[in-house]
Amino acid sequence: MAVSKTVTLPVTTLDRSYDVIVVGGGTAGVMAAIAAAESGKDVLIAERGYSLGGSMTAGQVTPFMNVRIGDARNSYLSARMQGFLEERGFTAPAWNGQPKTLFSPVTMSALLEEMCTAAGVELLYGAAFVNTVREDGRIRSILVQTLEGLTEIEARFVIDATGDAQVAFVSGCPFEAGDPEDHEYNQNMSLRFAICDIDLLKANSHLAELDGVEDPNNLHVYMAMEWKAAENPLTRLFRDAVAKGILEESDGVYFQAFSSAAFGDSTMYFNCPEAPHCRHTIDSFEVSQGVVDCRAAALRLHTFLKTYIRGFENSTISWFAQLPGVRESRRIVGEFYLTVDHYNNRSKFADGIAQSAYPIDVHGKSELVHPRGFAPGEFFEIPYGTLVPKGIDNLLVAGRSISSSFWAQSAIRIQLVCHALGEAAGIAAAMALDLSCAAKQVDGAAVRREMCARGGTFLPTE
Ligand SMILES: Cc1cc2nc3c(=O)[nH]c(=O)nc-3n(C[C@H](O)[C@H](O)[C@H](O)COP(=O)(O)OP(=O)(O)OC[C@H]3O[C@@H](n4cnc5c(N)ncnc54)[C@H](O)[C@@H]3O)c2cc1C
Repeated sequence: MAVSKTVTLPVTTLDRSYDVIVVGGGTAGVMAAIAAAESGKDVLIAERGYSLGGSMTAGQVTPFMNVRIGDARNSYLSARMQGFLEERGFTAPAWNGQPKTLFSPVTMSALLEEMCTAAGVELLYGAAFVNTVREDGRIRSILVQTLEGLTEIEARFVIDATGDAQVAFVSGCPFEAGDPEDHEYNQNMSLRFAICDIDLLKANSHLAELDGVEDPNNLHVYMAMEWKAAENPLTRLFRDAVAKGILEESDGVYFQAFSSAAFGDSTMYFNCPEAPHCRHTIDSFEVSQGVVDCRAAALRLHTFLKTYIRGFENSTISWFAQLPGVRESRRIVGEFYLTVDHYNNRSKFADGIAQSAYPIDVHGKSELVHPRGFAPGEFFEIPYGTLVPKGIDNLLVAGRSISSSFWAQSAIRIQLVCHALGEAAGIAAAMALDLSCAAKQVDGAAVRREMCARGGTFLPTE
């Protein structure tokens, strides 16, 4: 059992301060920082790793999942980034009928640095956020562990884009984690990895043969298998490999892999394995064991592929994600709490700062609540109040940890939505500073108007 106590430690105070500090330079954090900088603010990103992009890069999570709102792109920065990705050839032509959604996580991190530098955002890498210094319901400064030791940096406004709501958590803001009706278990985490030197043509023709379909004869390979899903040819091979001790039962909880021209013509990316034994993603020991379990499972899966699928004979595991694939951990309970009812009712809000028709998508549950499927043209909105934590006036939360129920969060955690949430947080932070008001007093409808004025596009709501 952990015991909480207060200790006194030497701290160095940085000799300059910032209008806005974004903690976590990930999917939402980068957008938040650039948006605030483009509102004329001095902005710092404090990131514990040494690259930007978070789940998009260090987590190896590609592609941008389609939010199914046609051509609308709520985040002008996301649209800008997409343009740069395509210009520079960092995307693949098509995946699953969705054009240009697959990108290279490797080159993406360099592109994000270029975008931040161009906007004047300062980067502090190797800066692990530790705590906040608070006064009268406001954050005065943040404490980060850096090469120089424990460092205090003053900020007029803070955006928590850690994915785990770490700033909000240590600042005493209310939060939830996991499914309250199921032991507070979080969604399953994964650790993504890549395999290179695959003969994709050979693999594709073998998979086509297994499926009993004509050889599609192309480099686009897709494989998926889940014990709980309908039987497919891979299910039989997985079962055989489990019987022979090549795979473990848990390796078939979720298996998905695809090739992408964004990574060259011999690589496949694995959106797996999952760590079904890690039930609490805010427990550091459980997450650590989950990572260890996933690496071991990836080695088994590679042996399986080499043994069972032609084309993998000379392949090598080339890359494990540096960031664990946590789908859901802490979620703040903020000024607005998004639920499955809002999703089912396709709720729209005057201060809706993101739109989506992405479905409820919970990993690690055998049974789903019964969400209403989307008809063409239907979508729901996420209001600004979901970014506003309770109890601290100069803090906003962006990304997968916004104020939402366990089930609702599974529909809003995807990247294009996180881009819009981050961008809205950056614009709102600048507005709060300009108006000298608390985050909760910022007019979310004005934030949405500003997103549109800068080039974001929203579907009409009437
Ligand atoms: C396995 C998996 C597959 C997925 N598949 C898809 C998909 O195909 N398409 C899709 O659109 N979405 C997908 N998602 C969802 C999506 O990728 C994430 O929900 C989203 O990227 C999260 O964005 P974020 O900004 O909240 O967090 P992140 O992008 O994870 O960023 C958090 C950042 O904060 C930093 N940080 C954390 N703690 C600290 C600290 N103490 N100090 C300093 N920095 C800190 C981290 O290093 C990181 O850079 C997937 C998610 C997972 C896990």
